[in-house]
Amino acid sequence: MTSEEHTVSLVDVLEEDEELEEEASAVLAGSDSDHCSYPQGYVKRQALYACNTCTPKGSEAAGVCLACSYKCHEGHDLFELYTKRNFRCDCGNKKFTSVQCKLNPEKEELNTGNKYSHNFFGLYCTCNRPYPDPEDQVEDEMIQCVVCEDWLHGRHLGGVVPECVELQEMICDACMSRNPFLWTSAAPLAVPSVGSTEAEVKEENGGGEAAEASNSVPCKDEEAGGPSCKRSRLDSSEPDCRLKEIQAACQNRVQSGAVFWLSGWRSKLCSCATCKKTMEEAELSFLLDESDTVLAYEHKGKTNEQRQQGHDPLMSALDNLNRVQQLEIIHEYNDMKTELKDFLQRFAAEGKVVTPEDIRQFFEEQQSRKRQRVNTGQFYCS
Ligand SMILES: [Zn+2]
Ligand SMILES: [Zn+2]
Ligand SMILES: [Zn+2]
Ligand SMILES: [Zn+2]
Ligand SMILES: [Zn+2]
Ligand SMILES: [Zn+2]
Repeated sequence: MTSEEHTVSLVDVLEEDEELEEEASAVLAGSDSDHCSYPQGYVKRQALYACNTCTPKGSEAAGVCLACSYKCHEGHDLFELYTKRNFRCDCGNKKFTSVQCKLNPEKEELNTGNKYSHNFFGLYCTCNRPYPDPEDQVEDEMIQCVVCEDWLHGRHLGGVVPECVELQEMICDACMSRNPFLWTSAAPLAVPSVGSTEAEVKEENGGGEAAEASNSVPCKDEEAGGPSCKRSRLDSSEPDCRLKEIQAACQNRVQSGAVFWLSGWRSKLCSCATCKKTMEEAELSFLLDESDTVLAYEHKGKTNEQRQQGHDPLMSALDNLNRVQQLEIIHEYNDMKTELKDFLQRFAAEGKVVTPEDIRQFFEEQQSRKRQRVNTGQFYCS
C-alpha cells in the first residue's frame, strides 16, 4: 500500500460511524502490536496481514502478525485480512526471500498448520475479486464465513442476507455443503432459508420463530443429508443426541445458500460423543467453542484496550509528533476524537489526501485552543 492509501484508510476508519470505529480498534486491540506472535504458536485468533510486496500473487501465500506488519513490513503494500484463527506468523520464514523478521528471526522454515486462501493475495468471495473492487459499482457488504473465513459479497451468498447481519455468524454455501450434517442443526438454530423471491423474503425476514415453521420443508429421506427420519426414530441408542431429535421431529430446511445462525447457536449445537467426533473429523471442533467467535475476540480486545490506551492504531500513524504532544493526545484522545474525525471527513468529502503536515497543523490548532480554554500549566508541567 502506498503512503497515500494508508492515509485514506485512516480516514476510512475514522469517518464511519462510532460503531465501525470501535470495531476497527477491536480487531487490532486483541492483538499485540509490539511483539511478534510467533512464540505463542498457532494463535487462537489474531489480526493478520499479507504482504503484496514480499509475497505477491504467484509466490507462496504467507501471513504476518500485527506487530510484524508495523515493524518488518513498514511501507509495504499490505492486505488487511482482519482476524483468522489458528495461525502462526510467517514473517521472515522460507516464504520470504528479501525480508528478515526484525522481531523474531528464529522461525521454522514453514508453519505447516497454517491454512491459506486467495485472501492472502487480496482476493475475496466466490467471484475472486479484490476489495474494495474498482470495477464494482454495486454497494454490497462483505460477510465473513466462520468456517473458511473467506469474505463474501452479500449478493453472492446464494440467498438473502438477513437484517442485523453483523450480529449473526454465517457459514457459506460451500462450507455447508462440505459438511452436510450442519444442515440438520441449521433447521432449528439458523435463520430460516427462503428459497422464493426477494420481495417475499424481505417481508418474512423479521419474522424469526414464526417464519421458521412456514419455511421448513417437508422431511424426505432422499433430501436429508444424514440418516433418514425413519431410521432415527427407530434408533434409540443415543437418545441424548440433539441432531437425532431434530431429524426425528422431521425438522428440515432447504439445503442451499449461506446459512445465518441465530445468536448463541454454538452452545446449542449437539456435543454428544458422536457429534463431537463428527465435528473433529470435519476439523470443525472450533464451532463448539463460544470463545472462537470474532465477537469473543473483540470483547477481549476491548478489555485489553482499556489497559493499554497507548496502543491505538491512530497513535502509530502519529508517531512523528514529539513526546509532549503524544502524551497530551493520549490524555485528550476521547475529547478530541470527534473533532479529528470532522477534520478528516472534510478531506474525505473533498477527495483530498491527508498529509502528515495537515495532521500536525490540526494538533497545533487543537493545542492553542486548549491553552486558551484551560488554565496555563496544567498540560505542560514536567
Ligand atoms: Zn510476527
Ligand atoms: Zn513485506
Ligand atoms: Zn516480523
Ligand atoms: Zn463476490
Ligand atoms: Zn465458507
Ligand atoms: Zn449428537
